[in-house]
Amino acid sequence: MRPKVLAGNWKMHKTQQEAVAFLQEFLGKLVDTPSDREIVLCVPYTCLSVLSKSLHGTRVKLGAQNVHWADQGAFTGEISPPMLVELGVRYVIIGHSERRQYFGETDATVNQRLKAAQSHGLTPILCVGETKAQRDAGETENHIFQQLALDLVDVDQSNLVIAYEPIWAIGTGDTCEETEANRVIGLIRSKLQNPDVPIQYGGSVNANNIDAIMAQPEIDGVLVGGASLQPESFGRIVNYKP
Ligand code: 13P
Repeated sequence: MRPKVLAGNWKMHKTQQEAVAFLQEFLGKLVDTPSDREIVLCVPYTCLSVLSKSLHGTRVKLGAQNVHWADQGAFTGEISPPMLVELGVRYVIIGHSERRQYFGETDATVNQRLKAAQSHGLTPILCVGETKAQRDAGETENHIFQQLALDLVDVDQSNLVIAYEPIWAIGTGDTCEETEANRVIGLIRSKLQNPDVPIQYGGSVNANNIDAIMAQPEIDGVLVGGASLQPESFGRIVNYKP
Protein backbone atom coordinates (compact mmCIF):
# COMPACT_ATOMS: atom_id res chain seq x y z
CA MET A 1 0.00 0.00 0.00
CA ARG A 2 1.38 3.36 -1.02
CA PRO A 3 1.15 6.05 1.70
CA LYS A 4 -1.35 8.88 1.28
CA VAL A 5 0.46 12.21 1.52
CA LEU A 6 -1.67 15.33 1.98
CA ALA A 7 0.49 18.42 1.79
CA GLY A 8 -0.25 22.11 2.00
CA ASN A 9 1.93 24.54 0.05
CA TRP A 10 1.49 27.93 1.63
CA LYS A 11 3.65 29.61 -1.03
CA MET A 12 4.46 33.21 0.07
CA HIS A 13 1.68 33.46 2.65
CA LYS A 14 1.55 33.92 6.44
CA THR A 15 3.73 35.63 8.99
CA GLN A 16 4.87 33.63 12.02
CA GLN A 17 1.96 35.01 14.01
CA GLU A 18 -0.52 33.97 11.34
CA ALA A 19 1.11 30.54 11.08
CA VAL A 20 0.73 29.89 14.81
CA ALA A 21 -2.91 31.01 14.74
CA PHE A 22 -3.55 28.65 11.79
CA LEU A 23 -1.97 25.75 13.60
CA GLN A 24 -3.93 26.18 16.80
CA GLU A 25 -7.17 25.90 14.89
CA PHE A 26 -5.96 23.26 12.42
CA LEU A 27 -4.74 20.81 15.08
CA GLY A 28 -8.26 20.79 16.48
CA LYS A 29 -9.48 19.36 13.16
CA LEU A 30 -7.28 16.27 13.45
CA VAL A 31 -8.92 14.47 16.39
CA ASP A 32 -10.70 11.92 14.16
CA THR A 33 -8.32 11.91 11.20
CA PRO A 34 -7.57 8.30 10.18
CA SER A 35 -3.98 7.19 10.78
CA ASP A 36 -3.51 6.03 7.16
CA ARG A 37 -2.49 9.49 5.97
CA GLU A 38 0.59 11.67 6.23
CA ILE A 39 -0.08 15.38 6.76
CA VAL A 40 2.54 17.92 5.72
CA LEU A 41 2.71 21.73 5.87
CA CYS A 42 5.21 23.31 3.43
CA VAL A 43 5.61 26.81 4.80
CA PRO A 44 7.81 29.87 4.16
CA TYR A 45 11.34 29.62 5.59
CA THR A 46 10.49 32.33 8.12
CA CYS A 47 7.75 30.16 9.67
CA LEU A 48 9.83 26.98 9.99
CA SER A 49 11.36 27.64 13.40
CA VAL A 50 8.17 28.57 15.21
CA LEU A 51 6.15 25.77 13.57
CA SER A 52 8.86 23.23 14.29
CA LYS A 53 8.31 23.88 17.99
CA SER A 54 4.52 23.99 17.73
CA LEU A 55 4.35 20.75 15.71
CA HIS A 56 6.44 18.80 18.19
CA GLY A 57 4.42 15.84 19.43
CA THR A 58 1.74 16.22 16.74
CA ARG A 59 1.30 14.09 13.63
CA VAL A 60 1.84 17.00 11.23
CA LYS A 61 5.18 16.98 9.41
CA LEU A 62 7.08 20.12 8.47
CA GLY A 63 8.06 20.92 4.88
CA ALA A 64 9.95 23.66 3.05
CA GLN A 65 9.30 25.00 -0.44
CA ASN A 66 12.81 24.85 -1.92
CA VAL A 67 16.40 23.99 -0.99
CA HIS A 68 19.83 24.67 -2.43
CA TRP A 69 22.18 21.81 -3.39
CA ALA A 70 25.29 22.97 -1.54
CA ASP A 71 25.74 22.49 2.22
CA GLN A 72 27.02 26.06 2.52
CA GLY A 73 28.72 28.71 0.43
CA ALA A 74 28.49 32.07 -1.31
CA PHE A 75 24.89 31.72 -2.49
CA THR A 76 23.13 34.85 -1.27
CA GLY A 77 19.48 34.29 -0.47
CA GLU A 78 19.62 30.49 -0.57
CA ILE A 79 18.97 27.92 2.20
CA SER A 80 20.89 24.63 2.48
CA PRO A 81 19.74 21.11 3.39
CA PRO A 82 21.51 21.07 6.81
CA MET A 83 19.76 24.33 7.72
CA LEU A 84 16.38 22.69 7.06
CA VAL A 85 17.27 19.46 8.84
CA GLU A 86 18.30 21.40 11.94
CA LEU A 87 14.79 22.90 12.09
CA GLY A 88 13.06 19.52 11.95
CA VAL A 89 12.02 19.78 8.30
CA ARG A 90 11.12 16.40 6.74
CA TYR A 91 9.81 17.27 3.28
CA VAL A 92 10.84 19.79 0.67
CA ILE A 93 9.04 20.84 -2.51
CA ILE A 94 11.43 20.91 -5.48
CA GLY A 95 10.80 22.14 -9.02
CA HIS A 96 7.45 23.78 -8.38
CA SER A 97 6.21 25.36 -11.63
CA GLU A 98 6.37 28.82 -10.02
CA ARG A 99 10.10 28.29 -9.38
CA ARG A 100 10.58 27.05 -12.93
CA GLN A 101 8.54 29.91 -14.42
CA TYR A 102 9.63 32.93 -12.33
CA PHE A 103 13.03 32.01 -10.87
CA GLY A 104 14.87 30.27 -13.69
CA GLU A 105 14.72 26.78 -12.20
CA THR A 106 15.81 24.20 -14.78
CA ASP A 107 15.65 20.41 -14.88
CA ALA A 108 19.40 20.41 -14.19
CA THR A 109 19.08 22.47 -10.99
CA VAL A 110 16.00 20.50 -9.96
CA ASN A 111 18.06 17.32 -10.26
CA GLN A 112 20.86 18.79 -8.13
CA ARG A 113 18.41 19.93 -5.45
CA LEU A 114 16.70 16.53 -5.36
CA LYS A 115 19.97 14.66 -4.81
CA ALA A 116 21.19 17.10 -2.16
CA ALA A 117 17.91 16.95 -0.23
CA GLN A 118 17.95 13.14 -0.22
CA SER A 119 21.58 12.98 0.85
CA HIS A 120 20.52 14.81 4.03
CA GLY A 121 17.52 12.57 4.65
CA LEU A 122 14.88 15.02 3.44
CA THR A 123 11.99 13.65 1.33
CA PRO A 124 11.60 15.73 -1.84
CA ILE A 125 8.20 16.45 -3.38
CA LEU A 126 9.11 16.79 -7.06
CA CYS A 127 6.59 18.82 -9.08
CA VAL A 128 6.00 18.16 -12.78
CA GLY A 129 3.26 19.30 -15.13
CA GLU A 130 2.38 20.83 -18.47
CA THR A 131 1.24 24.29 -19.55
CA LYS A 132 -2.10 24.91 -21.26
CA ALA A 133 -0.32 25.38 -24.59
CA GLN A 134 1.49 22.05 -24.21
CA ARG A 135 -1.78 20.31 -23.35
CA ASP A 136 -3.59 21.87 -26.31
CA ALA A 137 -0.75 20.79 -28.61
CA GLY A 138 -1.01 17.17 -27.38
CA GLU A 139 2.41 17.47 -25.71
CA THR A 140 1.38 16.65 -22.14
CA GLU A 141 2.89 13.16 -21.99
CA ASN A 142 6.10 14.04 -23.85
CA HIS A 143 6.72 17.08 -21.67
CA ILE A 144 6.20 15.23 -18.41
CA PHE A 145 8.29 12.25 -19.52
CA GLN A 146 11.10 14.59 -20.43
CA GLN A 147 10.90 16.35 -17.05
CA LEU A 148 11.02 12.98 -15.28
CA ALA A 149 13.92 11.70 -17.38
CA LEU A 150 16.03 14.79 -16.62
CA ASP A 151 14.95 15.47 -13.04
CA LEU A 152 15.34 11.89 -11.77
CA VAL A 153 18.88 11.09 -12.94
CA ASP A 154 20.58 9.30 -9.99
CA VAL A 155 17.66 10.16 -7.68
CA ASP A 156 16.71 7.59 -5.02
CA GLN A 157 13.14 6.51 -5.75
CA SER A 158 12.73 4.96 -2.31
CA ASN A 159 12.62 8.41 -0.67
CA LEU A 160 10.57 10.49 -3.05
CA VAL A 161 7.11 11.95 -3.59
CA ILE A 162 6.01 13.25 -7.00
CA ALA A 163 3.28 15.85 -7.51
CA TYR A 164 1.53 16.08 -10.87
CA GLU A 165 0.52 19.73 -11.11
CA PRO A 166 -0.90 20.80 -14.49
CA ILE A 167 0.11 24.46 -14.61
CA TRP A 168 -3.21 25.57 -16.09
CA ALA A 169 -5.00 24.14 -13.04
CA ILE A 170 -2.91 25.98 -10.43
CA GLY A 171 -4.72 28.83 -8.69
CA THR A 172 -7.34 29.00 -11.43
CA GLY A 173 -10.24 27.04 -9.95
CA ASP A 174 -9.98 25.01 -13.16
CA THR A 175 -9.29 21.57 -11.66
CA CYS A 176 -8.06 18.83 -13.95
CA GLU A 177 -10.83 16.19 -14.27
CA GLU A 178 -9.98 13.58 -11.66
CA THR A 179 -10.09 10.76 -14.22
CA GLU A 180 -7.63 12.68 -16.42
CA ALA A 181 -5.32 13.34 -13.46
CA ASN A 182 -5.57 9.64 -12.66
CA ARG A 183 -4.61 8.75 -16.25
CA VAL A 184 -1.55 11.04 -16.30
CA ILE A 185 -0.43 9.86 -12.87
CA GLY A 186 -0.68 6.25 -14.08
CA LEU A 187 1.59 7.20 -17.00
CA ILE A 188 4.06 8.87 -14.63
CA ARG A 189 4.11 5.69 -12.53
CA SER A 190 4.82 3.60 -15.63
CA LYS A 191 8.06 5.56 -16.10
CA LEU A 192 9.36 4.99 -12.55
CA GLN A 193 11.72 2.26 -11.42
CA ASN A 194 9.85 2.13 -8.11
CA PRO A 195 6.06 1.81 -8.59
CA ASP A 196 5.53 2.54 -4.88
CA VAL A 197 6.51 6.23 -5.13
CA PRO A 198 3.48 8.20 -3.85
CA ILE A 199 2.18 10.48 -6.60
CA GLN A 200 0.02 13.46 -5.69
CA TYR A 201 -2.30 15.63 -7.73
CA GLY A 202 -2.10 19.43 -7.35
CA GLY A 203 -4.12 22.25 -8.90
CA SER A 204 -7.25 23.86 -7.43
CA VAL A 205 -7.81 21.09 -4.90
CA ASN A 206 -10.45 22.15 -2.39
CA ALA A 207 -12.84 20.88 0.29
CA ASN A 208 -15.48 20.07 -2.33
CA ASN A 209 -13.44 18.07 -4.84
CA ILE A 210 -11.07 16.23 -2.47
CA ASP A 211 -13.23 13.11 -2.01
CA ALA A 212 -13.56 12.54 -5.77
CA ILE A 213 -9.83 13.14 -6.32
CA MET A 214 -8.77 10.73 -3.56
CA ALA A 215 -11.21 8.10 -4.88
CA GLN A 216 -9.01 7.67 -7.97
CA PRO A 217 -6.82 4.57 -7.71
CA GLU A 218 -3.56 6.11 -8.98
CA ILE A 219 -3.78 9.30 -6.90
CA ASP A 220 -1.93 8.92 -3.60
CA GLY A 221 -2.42 12.39 -2.18
CA VAL A 222 -2.65 16.07 -2.96
CA LEU A 223 -0.48 19.18 -2.95
CA VAL A 224 -2.77 22.05 -2.00
CA GLY A 225 -2.13 25.77 -2.44
CA GLY A 226 -4.93 28.24 -1.70
CA ALA A 227 -7.17 25.82 0.19
CA SER A 228 -4.34 24.95 2.62
CA LEU A 229 -4.35 28.50 4.02
CA GLN A 230 -7.58 28.12 6.00
CA PRO A 231 -7.83 25.60 8.86
CA GLU A 232 -11.42 24.84 7.86
CA SER A 233 -10.73 23.90 4.25
CA PHE A 234 -7.41 22.15 4.85
CA GLY A 235 -9.00 20.31 7.76
CA ARG A 236 -11.73 19.04 5.45
CA ILE A 237 -9.09 18.00 2.90
CA VAL A 238 -7.01 15.93 5.32
CA ASN A 239 -10.23 14.35 6.60
CA TYR A 240 -11.29 13.30 3.08
CA LYS A 241 -13.68 10.36 2.95
CA PRO A 242 -12.41 7.42 0.89
P1 13P B 1 -3.74 25.87 -5.81
O1 13P B 1 -4.23 24.74 -4.92
O2 13P B 1 -3.89 27.20 -5.21
O3 13P B 1 -4.30 25.72 -7.19
O4 13P B 1 -2.13 25.65 -5.94
C1 13P B 1 -1.65 24.40 -6.30
C2 13P B 1 -0.19 24.38 -6.10
O5 13P B 1 0.55 25.01 -6.82
C3 13P B 1 0.34 23.59 -4.98
O6 13P B 1 1.72 23.46 -5.05
